[in-house]
Amino acid sequence: MVFVCAACGVPLTGPLTRLPAVPEAPYTAWWDADEPGPSPPTVPSRHYAVEAEPYGAPLVVAEVPGPAMPRRGMMSNVHGQPLVSQGPRGNIVINPDDARGLKLQHASAACCGATPDGGMNQMCACGSLVATLSSDCCLPYELHLSAGHVRAVRP
Ligand SMILES: [Zn+2]
Ligand SMILES: [Zn+2]
Repeated sequence: MVFVCAACGVPLTGPLTRLPAVPEAPYTAWWDADEPGPSPPTVPSRHYAVEAEPYGAPLVVAEVPGPAMPRRGMMSNVHGQPLVSQGPRGNIVINPDDARGLKLQHASAACCGATPDGGMNQMCACGSLVATLSSDCCLPYELHLSAGHVRAVRP
């Protein structure tokens, strides 16, 4: 499958093969790295997987503590209350290196990369927000194409 922008039809990826599920993020001792930078990718190159859980903004106070979103760990607000994502389900998760023509527009504060906490932060050349990049050194390295903003086409 090739994923294209739903608004303008421009291809955002090359041909990708579907995985049955999103893999576990590879373990990485990012705090030991000599240079800050992205972790190894969660999804291998030239593949994609569909995220079954809610992902990204908005984050709301959770009844039961747990990971805020898949592979993100626990998050809490300034009052120490646990947060959980109420973002969209069904994101298409890919290796960020497989995406083309996207421009980063920060939606939440980060140190060296981008965080998914503020919602979509990747813009197509046509100006439409289409994806969420997670690339800060302490986060899994993934790009989530928004199911509502891209289309899958046969190459
Ligand atoms: Zn577009
Ligand atoms: Zn960083």
